[in-house]
Amino acid sequence: MYDPLTSRYTFPCPTHGDARVRLSAFRELERLPGAAHPCVYRISFSCTCGDEHVGLLTHDELDWEPLGLGEGTYLNLMTDRFEPVGAELGDLAARRIQAGDWPWSFFCYPEDRPRPIFPSAFFLLAPGNPGGSVGIAVRCPACSRTSINLVSPAHVDLPFFNDGEVGVVEHVFADDALSALEDFRAELYSADFDARRLSLE
Ligand SMILES: [Zn+2]
Ligand SMILES: [Zn+2]
Repeated sequence: MYDPLTSRYTFPCPTHGDARVRLSAFRELERLPGAAHPCVYRISFSCTCGDEHVGLLTHDELDWEPLGLGEGTYLNLMTDRFEPVGAELGDLAARRIQAGDWPWSFFCYPEDRPRPIFPSAFFLLAPGNPGGSVGIAVRCPACSRTSINLVSPAHVDLPFFNDGEVGVVEHVFADDALSALEDFRAELYSADFDARRLSLE
């Protein structure tokens, strides 16, 4: 469950009952095989209690609820509009996307260009170096290759907030190079980052 007013997802926590965490507290996202509709993501996240737990999110909860586009909303391909939403928040988000303003983006290193994404494109996240930053491993929806970016927490947590410039690891990763969080962390703390502009225009 997602609360758009605080930008937090709610998961069960064995210590506190409920954990309310931002997207930047996610550590691993994995689309579960099998259930095609709705598809379900296994999320491991760093909890406020100090432990990491696992929770499940449907695709709608992960990608659409942060935009106020929850259950029952769909992209009408005839009109190219999201219908029906009901909530003004969702309506506003839909109009911004149609105007070319993307809720999330990253820099695709293999393609050497910024790309719009949704949270389901993130698959590994970890606190970055320098502190306060967030390292993200993203599977590009256009070329399906992996890039590592270094961004601000707000870039991840707040829809329609995109850093003007992000750090990019100048490396083309093999498909299975970052299968584990440890591999990703090792890469994140040893790599050099190059600054790239993130304007999607
Ligand atoms: Zn907890
Ligand atoms: Zn790409």
